[in-house]
Amino acid sequence: MSDSRAQIREEIRAVLETFPHSPKAHVQSFGCQLNFCDGEKYKGILQDLGYELTDTPEEADVILYNACAVRAHAESRVIGRLGALKSIREKNPRLIVGLCGCMAEEEEVRALLRKSYPFVRLVLGAGAMERLPEALLSVYRGEKRHETLQFAGLPDETLPTVRESTFQASVPVMYGCNNFCTYCIVPYVRGRERSRTPEAIEQEVRGLIAQGCREILLLGQNVNSYGRGLETEISFPALLRRLDAIEGDYFIRFMSSHPKDATPELIDTMLSSQHIEHHLHLPVQCGSDRVLKEMNRHYTLETYLKTVDYARSKSPDFGFSSDLIVGFPTETDEDFEGTMRIIEYVKYDNLYTFIYSPRTGTKAAQMEFVSTQEQIAARMSRLLARQREISEEFNKRFLGKQVRFLAEKRDPETGLLLGKTREGLVLEAPGTESDIGRLLDVKVTGVKNWALGGEILRGTNDAE
Ligand code: SAM
Ligand code: SF4
Repeated sequence: MSDSRAQIREEIRAVLETFPHSPKAHVQSFGCQLNFCDGEKYKGILQDLGYELTDTPEEADVILYNACAVRAHAESRVIGRLGALKSIREKNPRLIVGLCGCMAEEEEVRALLRKSYPFVRLVLGAGAMERLPEALLSVYRGEKRHETLQFAGLPDETLPTVRESTFQASVPVMYGCNNFCTYCIVPYVRGRERSRTPEAIEQEVRGLIAQGCREILLLGQNVNSYGRGLETEISFPALLRRLDAIEGDYFIRFMSSHPKDATPELIDTMLSSQHIEHHLHLPVQCGSDRVLKEMNRHYTLETYLKTVDYARSKSPDFGFSSDLIVGFPTETDEDFEGTMRIIEYVKYDNLYTFIYSPRTGTKAAQMEFVSTQEQIAARMSRLLARQREISEEFNKRFLGKQVRFLAEKRDPETGLLLGKTREGLVLEAPGTESDIGRLLDVKVTGVKNWALGGEILRGTNDAE
């Protein structure tokens, strides 16, 4: 830690010592996995400064909302939370409320905060998280409102992190995005692509595996463009091979892959690996070439399906999931029929579906809607209903097979463990509390909607 950082920490600790109780901080993250991963760092920083972390906002001295800008709905939830803080603020005059993450990067959000939520005294943009201590200190010194916005570099590798799980961990490999899909706000609020070095990533992953972590989730807005711009350029498949060589019993997952950059080399690397999932999250967004062009996605359905066909020709069980936007402004019924055809063809295991949400500053926000909201809602219902049937039908391919699965949690009422297989499928199996956090061999005995049912093969698993 540099002198100034150490000084800032000491000064904050001195302030906290004047509190009549032990200081507490509450951090809540909204949105994507990357935001939750940032949230673990905000927690680490606050803990390092001397705050005890709490899940109860009522007892906090710092409340930090780490908010996502991708869709309006998530933003409204955060604004709602801020509005509901009135009684907590009245009870604790020391309370500092902060908004951070990519939502804080939007000028219209900051204007709204200035006008209607002046008690939000700390505003930190995505990528400015290591500035949290100095931001807090300036507020403690009396600054009415501290704003630090975009910081284009990489977060400090030494930032402390409070991980939510002992057996699953998210590891960002890159930040930002260069793609400028016309509906998406990410490039404006998270900046241009920049990658961590393979050495830093490998060191973090090795450390996690040595501590017993069983699932590493590599994160980036477009992981396939990982490595561009590094002093020694390295491709994402090369990074995967480097990580896969680490000894241990663990899965590697990653998201998201942009279809324009998903190569046969990526699929080959996954299939020949020891640890990488046999499942690709490959967001198609829409099943119409015309709309894909207007979305600025840089692939056609033909090239997208080539990747799907290639993977399935090598491994028929290979799984895909996708993001789909319904109701892009120029989407017609005919375009939507293309989306229905795509889900029939690919047979996704899982879909993340979104009603299009206009984002100020993006190109699509200027486009006129050609469909009504009722038509769009009806399309969404049809999509979800058909996808449920497809998942159930296609998941039957695993019936009777042996799969490996990570037990993530257990429902005490049913005694069922819930987790994911190496193929990325949700699986439920009867088990005990001590199975949580373990990789287990399971025989698939049933299929229910999007989930597999199974029986743990006792005797073949570790520590037995
Ligand atoms: N970089 C990833 C990719 O291109 O696949 C996705 C990251 S984005 C944060 C996650 C998903 O949010 C996108 O794949 C898209 O489906 C959805 N999304 C982004 N902007 C949206 C918008 N304005 N309205 C609705 N959904 C949106
Ligand atoms: Fe947004 Fe497109 Fe970048 Fe994904 S690739 S983050 S959808 S701009």
